[in-house]
Order: sequence, then C-alpha cells, then structure tokens
Amino acid sequence: MYQGAKPVFVDSEASTWNMDPVLLEEAIKDRLRKTGKLPKAIIPVHLYGMPARLDRICEIAGRYGIPVLEDAAEALGSEFKGRKCGTFGELAALSFNGNKMITTSGGGALVCRSEEEAGQVKFYATQARDAAPHYQHSHIGYNYRMSNICAGIGRGQMFVLEEHVARRRAIHALYTSLLKDIPGISVLQNPSSDFDSNFWLTCITVDPLVAGCTRENIRLALDADNIESRPLWKPMHLQPVFAEAPFYGNGTSEHLFDIGLCLPSGPTLTDEDIRRVAGVIRGLVR
Ligand SMILES: *Cc1c(COP(=O)(O)O)cnc(C)c1O
Repeated sequence: MYQGAKPVFVDSEASTWNMDPVLLEEAIKDRLRKTGKLPKAIIPVHLYGMPARLDRICEIAGRYGIPVLEDAAEALGSEFKGRKCGTFGELAALSFNGNKMITTSGGGALVCRSEEEAGQVKFYATQARDAAPHYQHSHIGYNYRMSNICAGIGRGQMFVLEEHVARRRAIHALYTSLLKDIPGISVLQNPSSDFDSNFWLTCITVDPLVAGCTRENIRLALDADNIESRPLWKPMHLQPVFAEAPFYGNGTSEHLFDIGLCLPSGPTLTDEDIRRVAGVIRGLVR
C-alpha cells in the first residue's frame, strides 16, 4: 500500500491454512482478463510457522514470471522439503518482534539473494544517503534502521534459536498428545513429511457439533482461568481497510477464523502450564 500497490487477496487452503495455489492461479488469470495486467508480486505467508505449498506457488509464479516475496515473519526455522522457509522467494521478510521465534525487541531482517540487493536494501532503509562526505540525496529513502543495541540482542538470540525452535515443537507435541482423544478438537499438524513447521504457535480448531462447545466458549473459559488465547488471524479481506480489495476465495479462511484458536505457546511455558491449558479444554468439552 505504501508503494501504491493494490492488494488482491487469495483464500487459504484447509491443510496448511496458507495461500491456496489453485485460487492463486485463478486470481492471476482473472486479473489478467479484467485488467490486462499481471500482479507485480505474490506474497505468501507461512502462518503460525506452517510452510505454504511453496513448490506449487513458486511453479505458478515462475510460469507467469511473477516474483515471490515470502512473509516468513513466523517461520524462522521451518522447512519445506528440507529447505528453510525464507529461502524460496526472491526476497523474504523475518520478524524479530518480541513475540516471534527470536527477538531483537523490535525489527526484523530481509533475506535476499545477492550482496548487491542487500546493499540496495540497506541504502533505502538508511535514508538513501548517496556516497558523499556531506549528506546528499538523489532518492527518497526510509528510516528503517535497526539500532545497534537491538542488533546486539539479536546476535545473542542467534545462539538460542535452535533451542527455541525445539521448545516450540515440543510444546506442540505435548498439546497434541494431551488433546488427541478430545472429540471435536483438532491440533494443526504438518500435512505430510514435506512440511516441518517450527510450530511458532500451536493452534486448534473446534467442531462445535462434536465438541458441544464453540471456539469462543473455550477462549472465554481459558480467560476465566487467567489464560490468554486468541482467535486465528482475521482474514485480510475482512479487514475494514481492505473492504474494497478484490478477493478470490471459497470461505476457507472465514471458516477457520470462526473455529480456530491459538493456544499459549511461548518458550517459557512449562509442561505443567500446558497441562493446565489442556485441562481447561478437556473440562469444557462433553
Ligand atoms: C509479526 C508479523 C509481521 C510483522 O512483523 P513486525 O516485525 O512486527 O513488523 C508480518 N507478518 C506476519 C505474518 C507476522 O507474524
């Protein structure tokens, strides 16, 4: 939006909750038909750390000559077919916000393919200063610098990255075993061995007809026990600010928004904490 682009939204698919490759191609064809133009970029996101179907998305993007920019903010450490998320697109964004896999308190990183690109990105991120002894500008830049203090924290965090990924996966495995025999409750899993999510967050869906309670009943019961949980991300095409944006969908993301819940998943949770969360859910489901 800052660059004057117009977003076109593509619905999720049920198995990864990420961009549906079939709807992506439909959207590309329909935009071409209606506007005579191809999208300038495809921006898939790896929600909650689960890799998008990158093979199919990159294949479609390649066929139409459209660059892929990965939003890998939640997917540091995740792999698709043995390769790290954030290395498939032309560019990828990582977040080091306080709630992400590792943190610099705020900020992130851009993954790119060459020194040249990295230099260009740094140029624009640091106020587009020309190579001159005085301050000279031939381009409009941004003030997106990371402070040296935050960067120092990030360098320290690199040492605990693997530990944090392992802990998030262990939390997911424990939730999975504690919730597995509760009717109507499903924990999102890697759909096949191609996928290796970092399980940044462990998320469940609630089938109210089977569980006898809704996602919202569970969220409120957890809240009453002083446990914070959240509905899944609100689909972008439902955000008021994007009410006018074109959308190619079949209802999947809206349905997930209705029935999905993110459970507490931070690396400082103890196994006892997780048993307590699972206990509240078990107590509510008939
Ligand atoms: C956190 C997040 C962002 C934003 O990252 P910031 O570092 O807060 O700017 C973008 N996309 C996704 C999917 C995220 O989870």
